[in-house]
Amino acid sequence: MKRLAYDIVIVGSGAGGGTVAQELSPLCQQGARIAVLEKGPRLRDDEFTGRELEMAAALYEDGGGFLTADGTMTLAFGCAYGGSTAVYTGTSMLPPERIIRDWNVPGLAHADLESRARKFMAENNVHLIEDGLINQNNRLFVEGCRKLGYGVQQFPVNIKGCRGSSLCNLGCPNQAKQGTDRVQLPRAEQNGVEVVTRCAVLTIGEKTLTARVTAKPPGGKGEPSPWEPGDYQIDAKIIVLSAGAVNTPALLLRSGMRRRLPRLGHGFTAHPAFIMVAEHETPITNFVGHPKSFYLDQFAQSDGFVLETCMYFPFITAKSLAGFGQPHSAFMRAFPRLQMILVLACDKVDPYNRVAIDSNGRPVVHYRFTPETIRGLIRGAITSAKIFFAAGAVRAHMPVARNTTIEACDAARLEDIAAEAEFKPGKVPVSAAHLQGGCGMGSGPDSSVTDSYGRVHGIPWLFVADASLFPNSLEINPYVTIMALADRAAQRIREEAPALL
Ligand SMILES: Cc1cc2nc3c(=O)[nH]c(=O)nc-3n(C[C@H](O)[C@H](O)[C@H](O)COP(=O)(O)OP(=O)(O)OC[C@H]3O[C@@H](n4cnc5c(N)ncnc54)[C@H](O)[C@@H]3O)c2cc1C
Ligand code: SF4
Repeated sequence: MKRLAYDIVIVGSGAGGGTVAQELSPLCQQGARIAVLEKGPRLRDDEFTGRELEMAAALYEDGGGFLTADGTMTLAFGCAYGGSTAVYTGTSMLPPERIIRDWNVPGLAHADLESRARKFMAENNVHLIEDGLINQNNRLFVEGCRKLGYGVQQFPVNIKGCRGSSLCNLGCPNQAKQGTDRVQLPRAEQNGVEVVTRCAVLTIGEKTLTARVTAKPPGGKGEPSPWEPGDYQIDAKIIVLSAGAVNTPALLLRSGMRRRLPRLGHGFTAHPAFIMVAEHETPITNFVGHPKSFYLDQFAQSDGFVLETCMYFPFITAKSLAGFGQPHSAFMRAFPRLQMILVLACDKVDPYNRVAIDSNGRPVVHYRFTPETIRGLIRGAITSAKIFFAAGAVRAHMPVARNTTIEACDAARLEDIAAEAEFKPGKVPVSAAHLQGGCGMGSGPDSSVTDSYGRVHGIPWLFVADASLFPNSLEINPYVTIMALADRAAQRIREEAPALL
């Protein structure tokens, strides 16, 4: 085993890790040695082809097919330089005041989080996109919402030079989407931070980590790791865990921290989601323009769901429609005429839902759909169908109905058609990309894992800076809030650097 030493090691290079790396990088000028260890590969610009199966395999954990323990929900998260920011859509939302107040984390004020969030929104060029990039799928959503009197809103997005290829979730082939791979990590590297890709951290111990660097597989995408393949022991004065809401709790659990931190892995939420599609009589532009320009959140508090416009590629769409056979293939054949809406449930912390590990130390996510989550998904499906028909769709796919194809003439009976009894886990294809919790912030180890700066209770050299810090669901798109929390961790480390390093 090779042995190395750094002052600070950051595990993971996504929204949390990339931000911490940038914010700590001025310490390199004072002589500190900082490394980011990232399990995934770093792709060259010309390797972002936009081809669905090829890019999913290159950029996602398990090719995008990581399943919860009972197989009823797919969890999508990135595994690459930039983490999930390499595949996110780039919708950029401020942390909601109501949610941060409800979190009730001692020392965490909404105003502080918001001012940090605004800093990263400016850095990532967040703005409302110009009219020319708004495609018909988005326009139909707005039209349907307005006809029904709903308060539809435009998403601020973080793009620069977008060419409207609609491929954001396969990694932007035009380098337009601003993620940590484009903004924060390159700046950190310019300042002297080393980013080591294809380097999976296996365990952490007292100011030390073990890691395994793998060789580039034959024919695979991405650069080889800057380190030789093999096993490493790395000593570090400070360790920051930013491996994401599944992998950070799993890493701590397989490092034997459960007894010290009984809340490890608990408090996992995910905004479970499914795709609604509806057929129009004429083709709809949804594979040009920006895919996600509008949302509807007025029902988040009362009914527990949010709707977003979306565009999914043929394979994902096919796997996301309930049922099979003729009704399924009829929708797939109508692909160029499909309007699409994503229904997201605002799930809450549930004692059963948690990250654990199997006997090999691999993450296992236990998740059940609570009655409130199911209700949110069904209310969201009914509201989506209303929007489809108000916008002129002729038929829609209703995943929570006995007969999953409904016609425009059914619009008045939607409340009878969509039924909780038809939400059968495994039958309704649910997926999630907003993974949160597992190392929640709070006042002490009995109820949480870290303090409000992400420092792990009782372990002064260990920090968490990623989505696992959320003590409960954020109810909106999370990356800006993750960056703001990572900024707090970096500030605390900078302040204490003279004593800690
Ligand atoms: C398809 C998709 C679309 C999304 N769209 C949006 C959006 O529009 N707006 C929004 O706000 N959010 C969006 N999100 C969510 C957002 O991207 C994530 O919430 C955010 O990136 C999570 O940040 P993180 O730092 O917690 O983890 P990640 O960004 O997932 O980064 C974790 C990194 O750690 C690495 N890692 C894991 N384990 C190890 C290990 N043992 N050793 C070394 N490295 C390790 C992983 O490879 C990964 O690169 C989207 C997510 C997905 C998947
Ligand atoms: S829509 Fe814009 S940001 Fe998204 S992949 Fe295409 S060019 Fe990139």
